[in-house]
Amino acid sequence: MSILAKNITKRFPRKVALDNVTVEAPSGKLVALLGPSGCGKTTLLRIIAGLEFPDSGQVLFEGEDATNRSARQRSVGFVFQHYALFRHMNIFENVAFSLRVRNRPQEEVESRVAELLKLVQLEELAKRYPAQLSGGQRQRIALARALAARPKVLLLDEPFGALDAQVRKDLRRWLRKLHDEIHVTSLFVTHDQEEALEVADQVVIFSPGKVEQVGTPEEVYNSPANPFVLKFLGHVNIFHGRQHAPGAPDGPETSGADRVKSYVRPHEIELLREADAAGRRGDWARVAWVHRAGATVKVELEVEGEGQLVMAEVAREKWASLDLQRGERVLVIARDARVFAGDYEI
Ligand code: ADP
Ligand code: MG
Repeated sequence: MSILAKNITKRFPRKVALDNVTVEAPSGKLVALLGPSGCGKTTLLRIIAGLEFPDSGQVLFEGEDATNRSARQRSVGFVFQHYALFRHMNIFENVAFSLRVRNRPQEEVESRVAELLKLVQLEELAKRYPAQLSGGQRQRIALARALAARPKVLLLDEPFGALDAQVRKDLRRWLRKLHDEIHVTSLFVTHDQEEALEVADQVVIFSPGKVEQVGTPEEVYNSPANPFVLKFLGHVNIFHGRQHAPGAPDGPETSGADRVKSYVRPHEIELLREADAAGRRGDWARVAWVHRAGATVKVELEVEGEGQLVMAEVAREKWASLDLQRGERVLVIARDARVFAGDYEI
């Protein structure tokens, strides 16, 4: 079932949490709502769930207006960041909860819970209590519980937010696989870029109260709509006050007022030793710091005269062949630079 939250505005006494926001989740897709903390993601999820009501705008499920339906009538499954499992109930009863509330026959409850525990690969834990599970296992049970009554849509609000980095990574792959099996339309809220880009079919990028861009992970990463999106999706070097980033070909002269900013990702920076730099244009810099622990080498460079720090990321073999030490001089060239229309410094 598709979800459309259309032109949603929500004001709190001292805050416009959502300002005419439209978000769509096509049927069967996993859509991530990504943005910094406080930008309205949870509020939007609660409005879609029917736990909160908008000041204006509509929520449509499969094209049907559900704005005035209660949470109960909307048939949504909800998973929160903080395990909302019932401590006094064992895992079986936790998963069974929504079926018990609906007075389903015992036979059906047993087979459905068994099916769900199998789906989240925790069959052996049925008799345990939440306190006897790891954080990751509890979130898998929370997901099983949310799915028990066969919701038409699944809403996940930072479901892995309280877990360790490694567990988070395992769970996001696990969720991706699970979603491929069950295909329930899902909205996944996170403030973690990597998580959103790795898990989702579509990503909706929020700034406070607003949607900045919607696209596939590849589209938002490779073709960011504006500087906000670009900066939010990873480190970027900003070169101020010139028409082009270092090394780019000459363009028309700019007049004083429009001091252009250009944006260059660390992996788009090329480094040349003095001996190889003849005839090339760029910024001279000194190697300030080298981080070698990782798949690539990350280098901090201090631009001569300006003191600006530039971050470059180079392949290990490339770094080995450059054979540079801290303090050595190097030419910094932008292989690629982005400039956004209207993004001037005055
Ligand atoms: P996010 O989930 O993206 O971190 P939220 O949707 O929780 O953001 O909050 C968006 C903004 O609305 C925040 O500034 C928050 O303080 C405010 N807000 C959220 N809920 C309430 C509420 N019940 N009353 C007043 N302000 C709220
Ligand atoms: Mg939130």
